[in-house]
Amino acid sequence: MKKILVTGGAGFIGSHLCEKLLELGHEVICADNFFTGSKKNILHLMDNPYFEVIRHDIIKSLLVEVDEIYNLACPASPVHYQYNAIKTVKTNVLGTINMLGLAKRLKAKFLQASTSEVYGDPKVHPQDESYWGNVNSIGIRSCYDEGKRVAETLTMDYHRQNGVQIKIIRIFNTYGPRMAANDGRVVSNFIVQALKNEDITVYGDGFQTRSFCYVSDLVDGAIRMMNSENEFTGPVNLGNTVETPIIEFAEKIIKMTGSRSRITYKPLPQDDPIQRKPDISLAEHKLGWKPTVELEHGLMKTIEYFEEKLKKNKILR
Ligand code: NAD
Ligand code: UDP
Repeated sequence: MKKILVTGGAGFIGSHLCEKLLELGHEVICADNFFTGSKKNILHLMDNPYFEVIRHDIIKSLLVEVDEIYNLACPASPVHYQYNAIKTVKTNVLGTINMLGLAKRLKAKFLQASTSEVYGDPKVHPQDESYWGNVNSIGIRSCYDEGKRVAETLTMDYHRQNGVQIKIIRIFNTYGPRMAANDGRVVSNFIVQALKNEDITVYGDGFQTRSFCYVSDLVDGAIRMMNSENEFTGPVNLGNTVETPIIEFAEKIIKMTGSRSRITYKPLPQDDPIQRKPDISLAEHKLGWKPTVELEHGLMKTIEYFEEKLKKNKILR
């Protein structure tokens, strides 16, 4: 049994990760400032004596004793990370330094949750880990994209300079139950709009693409990466390779929910990547990992989750 710190553990992915690590028999400490995360996401874990929650902002140092750190703390949806852009940079820079400093002191293994956003609006398709990206340093997405790039740099520098055992995963669009209904991401937006029979808001012409990975697959990949051979630091892409244009995604959600919603078009936000799909050969080779959950199956579970949530809040009958 290991003692494991998950920062951002009350968030969407973090809560699934905490759950899985507990299931595997580990002791888990979740540190979260509850900016985008919620106690509701981890309520079902609270009775477990091996689970501990600390209200903590990682831009301040944290003193705990653990064997491993999964550093997930950071808002992930464009609406939330742009809400306080400077704070997003602080979380990625100061927060990552604090968590790497903790790993250094404890000789703990450190995993950084990076993102496909480090590739920006990619000129290479599909994206593999050797591609350096096409990122605007002064745009509205930069606080997140550049923040995450510096976080990768810091992670590699603590490894080279201080011998910290590190792992970097580049997460591509991930979805599933416990996404926040109001976080503005495409999966939650479209499902909630469809369930309420409201207009589905497609940004731009809808021909931009994303590849959607179900959360259980992602969590499995993250844990495999943490447990991989010491010499393998990554970065490694984790994501689904089924690429879908956003307009097709909207039509799929309407069909699956039996909604009366119609599609409306809104302007494409600045620097919105046009095409995104991971090359996951490295993860397949090094981790023996590839996604197993079909899009329809994962979406069904996610739709059920939102339906239940909207009914509970008396938004749906
Ligand atoms: P989320 O917003 O649901 O979770 C982030 C969690 O971090 C929340 O619980 C939030 O309260 C917490 N947090 C934010 N700033 C913090 C701070 N300064 N101190 C402590 N806690 C803080 O997002 P998510 O989708 O679960 O993403 C988790 C991680 O995975 C993030 O680092 C994100 O960048 C990365 N990621 C996610 C995706 C995706 O598609 N979901 C894609 C790429 C990368
Ligand atoms: N998007 C959309 N309508 C929405 C929300 C998002 O068309 O209501 C588009 C968005 O412009 C982007 C894609 O869906 O092209 C994925 O957006 P999301 O915010 O989920 O993730 P990211 O852009 O970070 O991949």
